[in-house]
Amino acid sequence: TKSSKLGLTAKILIGMLVGLVFGFGLRHLLPEANFVDEYITNGLLHVVGTIFISCLKMLVVPLVFVSLVCGTCSLSDPSSLGRLGGKTISFYLFTTCLAISLAIFATVLIQPGNASLATDSLEYTAKAAPSLSQVLIDIVPTNPIKAMTEGKMLQIIIFAVIFGFAISHIGERGKRVAAFFDDINEIIMRVVTLVMQLAPYGVFALIAKLALTVDENAFKELLVYFFVVLGVLIFHGLVVYPVLLKVLSGLNPFIFLKKIRDVHLFAFSTASSSATLPVTIETAEHRMGVNNKIASFTLPLGATINMDGTAIMQGVATVFIAQVYGIDLSITDYITVVVTATLASIGTAGVPGVGLVMLAMVLNQVGLPVEGIGLIIGVDRLLDMVRTAVNVTGDCTVTCIVAKSENEFDAEVFNDPDAGKLKS
Ligand code: ASP
Repeated sequence: TKSSKLGLTAKILIGMLVGLVFGFGLRHLLPEANFVDEYITNGLLHVVGTIFISCLKMLVVPLVFVSLVCGTCSLSDPSSLGRLGGKTISFYLFTTCLAISLAIFATVLIQPGNASLATDSLEYTAKAAPSLSQVLIDIVPTNPIKAMTEGKMLQIIIFAVIFGFAISHIGERGKRVAAFFDDINEIIMRVVTLVMQLAPYGVFALIAKLALTVDENAFKELLVYFFVVLGVLIFHGLVVYPVLLKVLSGLNPFIFLKKIRDVHLFAFSTASSSATLPVTIETAEHRMGVNNKIASFTLPLGATINMDGTAIMQGVATVFIAQVYGIDLSITDYITVVVTATLASIGTAGVPGVGLVMLAMVLNQVGLPVEGIGLIIGVDRLLDMVRTAVNVTGDCTVTCIVAKSENEFDAEVFNDPDAGKLKS
């Protein structure tokens, strides 16, 4: 049949479109119907959407652990891990600082926050942020199994790297174990491609639910804020990354943007870098030609600490809130915003909505009212979806740059339009 020839990307896009039409259609045809709420929005769509996200999340911990063990134990020179780590983290920090600076610049220029927005009835209770020393202590797990059951990504990364390192140091027996992990890795990657086939249905449910529940009124007052965040996100994703990729690694950015499309769609519809991780790893390794040695390390790390899209929202939001409250920010304040938003985006977990929670830390740091978050909460869900797509694009860009510089990159796979393409 004709439809079986459609690629996965096309099917996901169709699912998205049908979801949008279905959701908005139902909303306008049956605006007051309780049963829509009960059986469709919070019933069918909720169940299908959540199961889809669960299927992705179910793979994250086993995939990260097994693939990182494979990656580490196949490093010809495991001591190069330090260099790899240093390079990756520096690039991640650099792109994040760039992102916030752009965000602040655009917001100062466009001035989306005017004092006509009512601020007296706003309420928002911030969660306490953990101290820096606790964050550092928490990187090393006291119990690796607990780290896995709780999905503590950095702890899993540390344990996997040490484990893989040891495997590469025990000779013949290590080779046996490494081969075993390689097989398991193949199996998990196969499950990833199976789960990806569910995406058109999952995405339909997620988008339809969004269309049924989105608060259209919130957009009216926040239109300029919304478009400033969106504009900077799009600029960073479609201009800054491609330029960095071209300049630092010589790779063709158009091929990159074409190959990353599925990752974008997954990130956009799940609003979670972490749930998207299986797809990100699959794409980087099989479609872009990044060696598992690099991707298995840089991508889980990126999904945890590199959140440029989140940083952009935090940069715009901070300056916006200052403008609404009529508070002038000094140069020192702006620098504080860049530093704390970088830290906040590192501390942001790759799950929906956390970027907004961490924004409280930035606001506190420059002495702005935390209730200001109440202003922008209404339009955050949609921005969350877009910024998550930017977050994962950043992870992939840095991964390609690092892989290329380490000579762990297969240009033939990258240049082949059909490499690793999923057909269903
Ligand atoms: N949802 C974002 C992510 O998973 C994090 C955030 O900004 O809330 O990447």
